[in-house]
Amino acid sequence: MGESSKMGRAARVKSAAPTIEVLAVRTPTLPPATHTNTFLVGTGQAVLVEPATPYQDEQDVMVEWVESARARGVEPIAILATHHHPDHIGGAGVLRNRLGLPLWGHAMTAQRLSGVVEVDRLLEDGERIELDGPTKTALTAVHTPGHAPGHLCFVDEASGIMIAGDMVASIGTIIVEPIDGDMILYLDSLRRIASLEPVALLPAHGDIIGDPQAILRFYIAHRLMREGKVLDALEAHGQTARPDDLVARAYDDTPEALWPLAIRSIEAHLIKLEREGRITSEGGCWLPPAP
Ligand SMILES: [Zn+2]
Repeated sequence: MGESSKMGRAARVKSAAPTIEVLAVRTPTLPPATHTNTFLVGTGQAVLVEPATPYQDEQDVMVEWVESARARGVEPIAILATHHHPDHIGGAGVLRNRLGLPLWGHAMTAQRLSGVVEVDRLLEDGERIELDGPTKTALTAVHTPGHAPGHLCFVDEASGIMIAGDMVASIGTIIVEPIDGDMILYLDSLRRIASLEPVALLPAHGDIIGDPQAILRFYIAHRLMREGKVLDALEAHGQTARPDDLVARAYDDTPEALWPLAIRSIEAHLIKLEREGRITSEGGCWLPPAP
């Protein structure tokens, strides 16, 4: 490895706060995003958040980053997972071994990773990870289910910045679909994040978000707008419907190429509407509300 490419690697590391370094690594994520942000939090004791990349060349960059941190006295004590999706834990097993660090995450993340990688310590909502060092800080875990059942955000005490995982993004969109997702919980979690009043949000995909309240209001309004369109489409359909019967009308503002994902999101909206008693279902199809 020549000096110039080493310098190239170092230049990829950005500072989000005196206590937080950011490195975006290439991952098999959902276009238009191509990278997942990973974080090193702490100025003495530290944690590495998002062991994201399954690609060896990018894992090498992460290992080099941690080694150079260790050389200046920053010592990671653990790897933290926000949730179980492959573009977030693709390097968990390899990095756990190569760096000799334990992996920490929520119980529901550990459950979904069973047989893939071992989670060494379970983190609960409200758990505080103290990090000693020249600038003392602590990360508080916030359980934010909805996109994934075990999703955790982490608030850095020293900066007031929240590592937000896949709750919001500044590139692309957040998928909430029935296999992992729950629309009621997702909206509740967005409101919970707003109530904590973070100074800024560090999403897994894209740049830092400097006005959390504005983006959280937008995300909530956008989901409720879509829910209204799903309900309209169901009423217009006038008979029992499957999600794909509704996509042309509910997503008339979205390119057809995205409709396969949209159909899964419609299903999440229909499940929410049914649980709220606003519509009913019958044999995997949904019925419009009685007039
Ligand atoms: Zn995800």
